[in-house]
Amino acid sequence: MSLALTSIFVILLFATTIVRIWLGRRHISHVLGHRNQVPAAFDGNISLEAHQKAADYSADKTKLVIIEAIVQSILLLALTLGGGLQLIDNIWRESLPNQEIIRGALVICTAMLVSSFIDLPFEYYKTFVVDVKFGFNKMTPKMFFTDLVKHSIVGLALGAPILFAALWLMQGAGEYWWLYLWAVWSVFNLVMLALYPTFIAPLFNKFSPLADDTLKVRIEALLTKCGFRSQGLFVMDGSARSSHGNAYFTGFGASKRVVFFDTLLERLNVDEIEAVLAHELGHFKHHHVIKRIALMFFVSFLGLALLGWLINQPWFYSGLGVSNPSNYMALILFLMVSPIFLFVLRPIMASYSRKNEFEADDYAAKHADAKYLVEALVKLYRDNASTLTPDPLHSAFYDSHPPASIRISKLLAYT
Ligand SMILES: [Zn+2]
Repeated sequence: MSLALTSIFVILLFATTIVRIWLGRRHISHVLGHRNQVPAAFDGNISLEAHQKAADYSADKTKLVIIEAIVQSILLLALTLGGGLQLIDNIWRESLPNQEIIRGALVICTAMLVSSFIDLPFEYYKTFVVDVKFGFNKMTPKMFFTDLVKHSIVGLALGAPILFAALWLMQGAGEYWWLYLWAVWSVFNLVMLALYPTFIAPLFNKFSPLADDTLKVRIEALLTKCGFRSQGLFVMDGSARSSHGNAYFTGFGASKRVVFFDTLLERLNVDEIEAVLAHELGHFKHHHVIKRIALMFFVSFLGLALLGWLINQPWFYSGLGVSNPSNYMALILFLMVSPIFLFVLRPIMASYSRKNEFEADDYAAKHADAKYLVEALVKLYRDNASTLTPDPLHSAFYDSHPPASIRISKLLAYT
């Protein structure tokens, strides 16, 4: 069994890496191949210059994604079959031979630290080389590192209790530890969703109540018409970090609020903002958020049940390069390796997400004016330098939003 697992893991890791590289290269050549011609549907709305900027931006970002995919695969191989995790475990075992829970937490933190250390240069390069080149970045290196420190502290403050709870349950809760952990994990997630907008998001961005009265009246009328009760309309200083624009709903139950990026409000007129908000309301009305949470609960239930079984199989450890089985090793191995096994589900998840986007667009077309949503989308695509000509296969595999041309032609059918 051990050898079988090793073989399957190596084959899948290799295959997913090849597919990721192949899709990325297809995307780059497709985007660059359509670089010199604005698609007919956007002629007149998007200049050739903007179209070419979007092509070059997409190509640069995708190149980075390809290199990152390769580095991540090598790292995963090094940590598992290469003995990296076992080495980390050995080091902590020497200093903490007895306290298994504390040692487990330290081993997991060390492994995560190593992984994020590898990702860091990519994020830095994307922000300070790629985004600077295309004029999107507003961050200073100081802000970048302050954010990093803040994220780490918040991550540790929120992650440590749940990690300790997990290790404690694994050690002492008997055969059904995974079921209890699932309950704890689910409650933790719901609490996070409720607390995030009020307590966590403000640590990173400034949120101020929407001040524009004309806009406020229009938005409140739309909210009432759609039967939506929110705890307020807020503007977020997205422009502090990037010039990309967006709008979203956040929170849960009573903490629900509407958030607009200041960059969005600057660029869209009142009609367009109303149409974008109607789209977001469509997500809410179709219960997309609730469905996503339910799906996450279901997947984590299956995952933990599987882990509950794997934890007792010696081949699970030896097949993935760990010679000294323990609860925490099972947990970190599972977290690191499962994405490789779940990679095939990616296109299914992406297509589900695109289906939700069409439903939200449909709602927006019925409760606002589809014409204005099209105008808003064209502006957002242009200003965010999103490509209008993605590779169809790359898009089907990864994109949470449908390609612009398909989305807009569907919306125009309503007008
Ligand atoms: Zn949407």
